[in-house]
Amino acid sequence: MLKKIDHIGIAVKNLEEALAFYEDALGLQATGTEVVEEQKVKIAFLPLGESKLELLESTSPDGPVAKFIEARGEGIQHIAVRVDNIEEMLQEMEEKGVRLIDKPPRYGAGGARIAFLHPKSTSGILLELCQRNEEEK
Ligand code: ZN
Repeated sequence: MLKKIDHIGIAVKNLEEALAFYEDALGLQATGTEVVEEQKVKIAFLPLGESKLELLESTSPDGPVAKFIEARGEGIQHIAVRVDNIEEMLQEMEEKGVRLIDKPPRYGAGGARIAFLHPKSTSGILLELCQRNEEEK
């Protein structure tokens, strides 16, 4: 079951420069930065009400975020929805013929379990399913 928009992922060329806008100008507060080796990204989460913004800077020219920026420029790269049972959700998606990028799910920033659905199945959005520990907002 889908719970809410967990976060919106924004591909940026330079995390520090992006934070200068999102923190200093907008007044949001990042919860720190984290490198996710597997995805070749350095990220920062900025809580905003019930959800968050996720800024992603590539740590390598061949990472998915670098390729995204090369093709489309900086901007919204994915939308993440919170689910309570990611395995069940992926199973259901598969049964319904949805194209999956990740099965089984993998670990993302903050220890969340995540899996992407293919934009071909979602009308063009890279959709992330995201399961977090219950106590985590
Ligand atoms: Zn994300």
